[in-house]
Amino acid sequence: MVSQVAADLVLLGGNVLTMNHLKPQAEAIAIKGGHIIKVGSDREVKPLIGKATRVIELNGKTVLPGFIDTHVHVVDFARLLMWLDVTDVDSIAELQRRIKEHLYKSTLNDWIVGRGWDDTRFAEQRMPNRFDLDAVAPDNPVIMYYKCGPLCVVNSKALELAAITKTTPDPIDGIIDRDVSTCEPTGILRGTATNLVFKKVPEPTFEKLVETTALALQKIVSTGITTIHWLATSEVDLDILKHLAEKKQVPLYIYLVIPLSLMGPQISKLPQNDFVKIGGVEILVDGYLSSGTAALSEQYSNAQSMNTNLLCTNAQLKETIKKVVNSGLQVIIHAMGDKAIDVALNALEAVNVKSRPRIDQPALFNPNLIERLKNQNVVLSVQPVVGESEFTVYAAIERLGKERARWLYPLKTLFESGIYVCGGSDCPMEPLNPLLAIQSAVKRQFFPEEELTLNEALQMYTINAAYASNEENKKGSIEEHKQADLTILSEPLYTLNLNKISNISVERVIIRGKLFENT
Ligand SMILES: [Zn+2]
Repeated sequence: MVSQVAADLVLLGGNVLTMNHLKPQAEAIAIKGGHIIKVGSDREVKPLIGKATRVIELNGKTVLPGFIDTHVHVVDFARLLMWLDVTDVDSIAELQRRIKEHLYKSTLNDWIVGRGWDDTRFAEQRMPNRFDLDAVAPDNPVIMYYKCGPLCVVNSKALELAAITKTTPDPIDGIIDRDVSTCEPTGILRGTATNLVFKKVPEPTFEKLVETTALALQKIVSTGITTIHWLATSEVDLDILKHLAEKKQVPLYIYLVIPLSLMGPQISKLPQNDFVKIGGVEILVDGYLSSGTAALSEQYSNAQSMNTNLLCTNAQLKETIKKVVNSGLQVIIHAMGDKAIDVALNALEAVNVKSRPRIDQPALFNPNLIERLKNQNVVLSVQPVVGESEFTVYAAIERLGKERARWLYPLKTLFESGIYVCGGSDCPMEPLNPLLAIQSAVKRQFFPEEELTLNEALQMYTINAAYASNEENKKGSIEEHKQADLTILSEPLYTLNLNKISNISVERVIIRGKLFENT
């Protein structure tokens, strides 16, 4: 009798945080056919163990619903994986050694592209320059990006290929660092000057991109993520995803968000199935705070020249929203500045969008906007780590003034007003790790009154993120009949110092009942 209902997989003795407020905690879970068939105590679940059931003893480990990241640029992440990672390098000598080692695997004309150096960690206590790179790479062009922002060091070969000499003028919003006595470029390029060299780096082949994107998806799963909202940037994304789907190399669920330019016949070539769905269309209303292109209702505090223009007119925005609504896809508006959010709300109200409209990457709010967001039932996809960088890397208080900066990423106020807030990484702009984002949301250096509780931060990456794509009936919490998408952590979350959440490792991930083990 028992064998008829026997589970495929049973987890026992865990600390299961279900994110289902009716039954927040449990010990054990039974899974069959990719779905959860029982959540309860060990005693309640054990009868579902049959001869062929795999049983995992969790010994008190924490189980959460699989994380959902609502903003990932997967192909850009894949491109980054092809680069030499020098994040942990602690001297220029070691940087040189890594480049030299990498050169052994390269041929003469290959570019060496790397990222992640941080001169504050260097024993030499200075930035690297072209001559440091020339010493180990005299023939191959080298470009090594700083740990964040548009800043890099290049060697003489790269300067030569980009035709940068001492007479080359600085581009708008960019600086070519120069030696004080000779005026020759030092190799350090800032802002848009980095593009002068990067545009010379050849595109990887399509085959290489497909291969690395498959690797990127595996890496995403290893961080405990079981669903991503993949923000596509071009038709190449569709082609890559099609290839991977055909080769059955899509291990997690993908909710694809396409740019407006891809709305058309080209999307029909992407077969949609249990793991791939074309979900929404992203409409850009403004740019980014960090680059000074987010549309603000009042000028940036520290510069007059910065752009506060919108990327579309009110009339265009309304027409575009209508077109997306008619296509049956979700309306996802990128609006970062307070002026952009205001314009987005006006247009959503005028068109009367009923099917869960969403604003992505909103950053700067005010009490009036929050009230309107609540009344119009708009879902917000917010990036907590981007928020932290606005303060720590991009000097938000200086650029916006303290009074306005107080309304930058006001997560607690948004939660308390009852707005659905979900979380994304914006990877590769920021790291993928959902536990890092959760830590950023519960521990803030600036305006700590806007810190979330751990439970609220977890909601952003689970149940609220499922709501953001109309899928809360299938996922986002550990409940019977929902998909068996689970993340198992190495350490208990609630007894831990909140500053250490991002150090927790993900031991196992279960997607539709399939087990992935991190070794
Ligand atoms: Zn993005």
